[in-house]
Amino acid sequence: MLAPEVETLPWKQQLALDDASYRVQLAYLLDRSPFYRAKLGGIDTGGGLAEIASLPLTEKEELRVTRTPENPVGAQLCATEDEIVRIYSTSGTTSAPNYIPLTAGDLDNWITGSARSYAASGIAAGQRIVSTYNAGPFVAGAALAAFDRIGLCHIPVGTGNTERLVRSIELLRPHAVVLTPSYAAYLLENHDLRGSSVERVLVAGEPGGGEPVFRARLEEGWGARVTEAMGIGDIGISLWGECEEQEGMHLGARGFVHAELVDPDSGAALDLGDGATGELVLTHLRHRAAPLLRFRTRDHVEVRTSPCRCGRTSPRIRCLGRTDDMLIVRGVNVFPAAIREVVSAFAPAVSGQIVVRPRAPGVKQEPPLPVSVELGPGVQPDEGLAHAIAKRVREVLVVQAQVELVAPGSVPRSEYKSRLVERL
Ligand SMILES: [Zn+2]
Repeated sequence: MLAPEVETLPWKQQLALDDASYRVQLAYLLDRSPFYRAKLGGIDTGGGLAEIASLPLTEKEELRVTRTPENPVGAQLCATEDEIVRIYSTSGTTSAPNYIPLTAGDLDNWITGSARSYAASGIAAGQRIVSTYNAGPFVAGAALAAFDRIGLCHIPVGTGNTERLVRSIELLRPHAVVLTPSYAAYLLENHDLRGSSVERVLVAGEPGGGEPVFRARLEEGWGARVTEAMGIGDIGISLWGECEEQEGMHLGARGFVHAELVDPDSGAALDLGDGATGELVLTHLRHRAAPLLRFRTRDHVEVRTSPCRCGRTSPRIRCLGRTDDMLIVRGVNVFPAAIREVVSAFAPAVSGQIVVRPRAPGVKQEPPLPVSVELGPGVQPDEGLAHAIAKRVREVLVVQAQVELVAPGSVPRSEYKSRLVERL
């Protein structure tokens, strides 16, 4: 454990420390954030962390509309120019880039939390890790400093060159690799990595690494243990990291970020209890450049608060999918990632790649929901298999699917994030 005195502190004591940080952060927002001064005007902000749910949620779009040519960050910017040491962009595919400024202290806190999250995987000082992140403009670049903080020998190979990656695994014999789950799966389709030196595969950047069937397939193919990490650009990198128990990601950024759960439809606060599911909402506790309060992450997560055998006391989460991907079929919420999980159980008859192709625009869909399921290598389409998959999806997810089996390799692969939903 990288910081046992922090990571094993009883959660109640953590919340007491967080309450004090939160009160200071709130006063800072009211003093320095034009965005929150306007948003919180007329609202009683006198409560502590226990009363945080009485304050409004922050939507990404609200921040976006405050950007101007004079202030491209947005009205949430609190720090002065000379306080800012780094400005990242988020890799959003729509509209203008979203700029994430950081003070020196913010950057240091990001790295501290990220280092704890990655170290939870069991990787330790002196070991070698191959990374496939592009350090360029995106926040994931800051995670690279976390590898230094842990004391690893870091071998950056970047994205876009599979041969270079495989060669570096063969020749430099790393203990670990860090990549997206899609890429980890993609590599297995063309390379035999079971006998490689890699003992740990750290996945991040998209949900999926925690789906039991998918994970089992990665572990089998790599001959290595798979754990996941997760962050969100607007709040922090690799805020969460899974430990060797593999029962969800611990909050590595504890003390820097407060986590809540809300109902994705109504926005109502939900109890962060064991087994609870909902949308993850995050609040900065000690941020200076552009701190956010009750930020809606759009990540739909399941929470575990039962004691973890590793000794870390923070709650754990598993990401079930993005609420942006969520579809509602006859009143039932459906996550494409959950469909992928059910379908993956049919491997090796299927490859594990799926694409959901909604017929109607928007969230609400009429059944049956069209799902393209890619066959495994050398497998021929078979009516019985399609029916069996549709039946299983109906049993597990209570949604009627129209399964179309497609040829092996026909679902587009990505080195970064796979798209599970394709609209007409
Ligand atoms: Zn644990």
